[in-house]
Amino acid sequence: MTDKAVPFFDLVTVHRELEGELVEVLRSALRTAGFIGGPMVQAFEEEFARFCHAQHCIGASSGTDALRFALVAAGVQQGDIVITVPNTFIATTEAISQVGARPDFVDVDASTYTIDPEKLRAYLNEQCSWNAELQRTIHHETGKPVAAVVPVHLYGQMADMDPIREFGAQFNLKVIEDACQAQGAEYYSHRDEQWHKAGSLGHAAAFSFYPGKNLGACGEAGAITTSDEHIAQASRLLRDHGQSKKYYHDIEGYNGRLDAIQAGFLRVKLQRLHGWNEQRREIAERYNKLLSTSGSLVQPPVQPGWSRSVYHQYVIQVENRAGVQQHLSKAGIGTGIHYPIPLHLTQAYRGRGFHGGDFPIAEQAANRILSLPMFPGLTPNQQERVVVEVLAAVRGSMGD
Ligand SMILES: *Cc1c(COP(=O)(O)O)cnc(C)c1O
Repeated sequence: MTDKAVPFFDLVTVHRELEGELVEVLRSALRTAGFIGGPMVQAFEEEFARFCHAQHCIGASSGTDALRFALVAAGVQQGDIVITVPNTFIATTEAISQVGARPDFVDVDASTYTIDPEKLRAYLNEQCSWNAELQRTIHHETGKPVAAVVPVHLYGQMADMDPIREFGAQFNLKVIEDACQAQGAEYYSHRDEQWHKAGSLGHAAAFSFYPGKNLGACGEAGAITTSDEHIAQASRLLRDHGQSKKYYHDIEGYNGRLDAIQAGFLRVKLQRLHGWNEQRREIAERYNKLLSTSGSLVQPPVQPGWSRSVYHQYVIQVENRAGVQQHLSKAGIGTGIHYPIPLHLTQAYRGRGFHGGDFPIAEQAANRILSLPMFPGLTPNQQERVVVEVLAAVRGSMGD
């Protein structure tokens, strides 16, 4: 790497800075042999529940498992339909399928990349009907009940939760937040005129602490948050072989616990999360300012008045994405694409009856989005360099 190179993200510096504290966690785990469950897991769960303004946090082995457990705990059953968006990481739909449910999609809003409430309304009203006897919403084409909706808080920004919760109540759907990219994000609800944290507005929420997330472990980790006592209890059983106490199995569960050492690492990092998220917001604002001279050549991310994003990613749209990415790569600037293929068109879901054109907003975004370097510690100079090169690339590619 040359001096001028700007990495897409930097996970090394933060761990160098925290090394002393992290090694201390490891030492204490070794000395007590407290590897599974125990006080570090419990302390993290209490602290993270408080951080999210939720009643309960249940640690899990990954975000994918957290989402699966939350869905099962909320009552989603084999054969049910669960609605989500096509522009998410495949873990969202994997978790739905692992429950035995069928993922179906609703397109996103073009400016926020999160589920479009109007299209959700249309899906529920036009493709489904209310069965008063069952008190369930039945999908016409399959005859299956729609059990839940999983709004994905993408790139650090929450979905528009007021209407989603309203439809949840109206159509008897559980609302399970995929908050894997949104630790600390906030949403302004017009119902009670207050800001709410991600993880506190659905019946339950799933978080990932994959190392690259805003709050990342030093390995695999995840958590469920909920303020529903029943969902909390069921999630605790599911993650730990269905045990209410050792070798007393109320149900069949999974091996899906949060590792105690990871919980200890997460406690150290959770104390910094607010500061890191504030840095990400400042970085996003600086990008917005620097890019404002680009006219319509670069579409910056949009943060509606009801949202306080934590900018897990800073995602722009450009016309000639491949050219721009290549130009930046040559200039030593790392970028990413989150995600290049919408899930309904991915190989894994071929044969499900989806076609190109089914979800045009997500499809168009997939061809145009580009994630710029975004991590706490990214300097103003580095950002200027990124934007200079982005502008050179988009202006240069106009004549192509
Ligand atoms: C990271 C992520 C997940 C999965 O989390 P893991 O901890 O990797 O299992 C799920 N959904 C979204 C949107 C994610 O970004």
